[in-house]
Amino acid sequence: VGGYVGIDTIQEQIRRKALKKGFEFNIMVVGASGLGKSTLVNTLFKAKVSRRSCATEEDKTPIIPKTVQIKSVGHVIEEKSVRLKLTVTDTPGFGDHINNENCWLPIIEYINEQYEKYLGEEISVNRKRHIPDTRVHCCLYFIAPTGHSLKPLDLEFMSRLDKCVNIVPIISKADTLTVEERQTFKKKIRDELDSHGISTYPMKHLDEDDEDMVVNTNLRDKMPFAVVGSDKVYQVSGKPILGRRTNWGLIEVENRAHCEFANLRDMLIRSHMQDLKDVTESIHYEKFRRETLKGREK
Ligand code: GDP
Ligand code: MG
Repeated sequence: VGGYVGIDTIQEQIRRKALKKGFEFNIMVVGASGLGKSTLVNTLFKAKVSRRSCATEEDKTPIIPKTVQIKSVGHVIEEKSVRLKLTVTDTPGFGDHINNENCWLPIIEYINEQYEKYLGEEISVNRKRHIPDTRVHCCLYFIAPTGHSLKPLDLEFMSRLDKCVNIVPIISKADTLTVEERQTFKKKIRDELDSHGISTYPMKHLDEDDEDMVVNTNLRDKMPFAVVGSDKVYQVSGKPILGRRTNWGLIEVENRAHCEFANLRDMLIRSHMQDLKDVTESIHYEKFRRETLKGREK
């Protein structure tokens, strides 16, 4: 009686299973055209998401062409025997036209199609042991570095998106803002999102305990992250550095004193990946599933 049962090995068992399966994580970039979405997709893969993925030699990548269709790029990243399949979905920018009516439709359709596919697999009689997950776990919404306020289109777009996906708003091309401008702009955006009832990730009402609350409040106070993107690598004191070279110096993408790309990467990859997946599954996908199946009953 009262002998060792071995419950403490459960964690290790779960870890081993998870390692074998590997992880799938899907990010989507959305925003007006020319804001640096395609560049950031490349930045994410070249930055030290993993050491392996970091390019070493001086880069001669051609200039990124204008994105004309929704397109996903996936890479398998392996580190310390953990396998991550990171997929980033690039989307054509909007805002080029005088009439931007319904420009969110293709994006929302894409998100729902992935839910639809997953649901189809899940309810099929002979379902796969492992259902490939293409659901969008995180949508990076690009805000133009105007320093003024959000555009009506941003508010409209995000208030539709937040019903079906985790939104992480970011200020792109942050190298065009001064330190003061950045701070005021961030505060302004937070207030505007708040007053329009737009819920961005991490959502306050989903904090599960005090620990979550402390970590997430800290994140929420810093958001939206002001980031700089680049796919060019420069040698700085013999080390490869992702950056943007200007007449007045090099802006280092991963240097926390220069911009908040590292904060964004840390949240997406190092601290909140599993939570982004959980919220997608239990809130957004669940809502889609419930509504779809209810609709079929009638
Ligand atoms: P997209 O239309 O949103 O996909 O934008 P692109 O990635 O094609 O970039 C549009 C232009 O902005 C290109 O000339 C990029 O080199 C430039 N760009 C991208 N990221 C940044 C950034 O962080 N800072 C600055 N200053 N320019 C950027
Ligand atoms: Mg593009």
